Amino acid sequence: EKFDIADPLRTQAILERYQIRAQKSLGQNFLNDPQVVNRIVATAAIDSQDVILEIGPGIGGLTQQLAKSAAQVYAWEIDQHLIPILQENLADFSNIQIIPADILQVDLAQFFQEHNLEQRSVKVVANLPYYITTPILLRLLQAPVFLTQLVLMMQKEVAQRVCAQPHHREYGALSVLVQAKSIPQITQIVSRQAFSPAPKVDSAVVNFDLCAPLPVTIADYAQFGHFVQAIFRQKRKTLKNNLIAYLGKTPTHLQQLQHVYQQLGYPSTMRAEQLSLQQIVELQQAINEEFF
Ligand code: SAM
Repeated sequence: EKFDIADPLRTQAILERYQIRAQKSLGQNFLNDPQVVNRIVATAAIDSQDVILEIGPGIGGLTQQLAKSAAQVYAWEIDQHLIPILQENLADFSNIQIIPADILQVDLAQFFQEHNLEQRSVKVVANLPYYITTPILLRLLQAPVFLTQLVLMMQKEVAQRVCAQPHHREYGALSVLVQAKSIPQITQIVSRQAFSPAPKVDSAVVNFDLCAPLPVTIADYAQFGHFVQAIFRQKRKTLKNNLIAYLGKTPTHLQQLQHVYQQLGYPSTMRAEQLSLQQIVELQQAINEEFF
């Protein structure tokens, strides 16, 4: 029996046959549009040597198409009910391994070691569970392993924030943290109708290039994360007010901050959303030198 799972009738048939009630709390919206799946696979530019990591295979619609081009697919699924269904529907493929686990508990460095992936071209391709998009994305970007590319479906609004540039309404901490580690680009906008059941929001696929040269290098990403969160904390406030809240309001601190502003040539009305990634890194350095 040869068939594609990501198809409206096939998806419906599988959901009925196994009496699957999609669990909202797990972000279960299954892709039923073959064109959308094909474009995701094309964006990932998979060659026969590639190892693909998938998060949340669901009923296997994307998994199946990934396995047609890749050397090996590892897919983590948290929902125990779906494991036997995946095993059965993907039985034709010897290069798929379904792992019953919560992706947020996976130690990727250990996984790479156990599966000898250190020298391989490893990409992550996934239609993410939307309730944990940001933690998954930030974990992938910080993972101490070599990933060449991420192709991730997420809520459209989140995709726009991830890719936003300075001076745009969507630009904020998430844009900066992602762009400090990758070059993200929206490759397709996906209608809610492409999923069974249809979610309440539209989606977008983002391609994260992890090999392109970046404008900055971050020595301590965790510390940078705290700083970036702090300067964008209150979007209506000036950068200065956010910095004072972060550093603590004392006469000495105000003086030191004044000095940093002079040194960088910033007007006191400056706002975080006006700062480029490079400027944010410079600002953090200047503050570290002045204060710590
Ligand atoms: N890949 C399938 C597709 O495109 O049709 C399903 C995508 S669905 C949006 C998200 C999937 O992630 C669901 O199958 C859900 O059970 C799974 N999931 C949710 N939380 C997870 C977690 N913490 N770890 C692994 N999988 C998770």
